[in-house]
Amino acid sequence: MNDADKQSSDRPTKEDSDSIYPDLIPWEKDHPTFSHFEVVGTEDPRGRGLRARVIFQPGQLVARISGIITNRTTLDTMQVSPPLHFMDPWFCRFLLHSCNPNIAIDIDLLEARATRVIHPGDYLAFDYATTEDFIARQFACHCGAPQCRGWITGRREKPNEEGLAILSQNRKSRL
Ligand SMILES: [Zn+2]
Repeated sequence: MNDADKQSSDRPTKEDSDSIYPDLIPWEKDHPTFSHFEVVGTEDPRGRGLRARVIFQPGQLVARISGIITNRTTLDTMQVSPPLHFMDPWFCRFLLHSCNPNIAIDIDLLEARATRVIHPGDYLAFDYATTEDFIARQFACHCGAPQCRGWITGRREKPNEEGLAILSQNRKSRL
């Protein structure tokens, strides 16, 4: 073994980790791992979500994320810049939406950080409007947060007709 090989073998490697990401993604130490997260069904219309298996403190790095850049928005993409979108079909696509999220995505740094304490068993959720100017599909939110907006849009768009109807219904039911 030459010196260069020896040096690289002293660093943590993909082989030491149970990264959620496949080999095509260049390995990084803080990528999400199966020992920290599990993909499970929510048993509600939100479908599958990601549950933490360990505790995270507020501000703590939950995972460094990685994926594929595309020109299209889909239900599973996050906006990097107006024309560019990020798709991570292994981890981020299972992040749920919440109007009172427990993680925040920094799309410039490709980081997910805890916004409050996350306990083992908690689903990971971020606010979809924090990354999207225009969301692929607006939807009614039932996240249960007291500050739930009721209808989720991108940050630069207005609710569509269905959203306006739902929001006015919600307002009436609160009166
Ligand atoms: Zn909500």
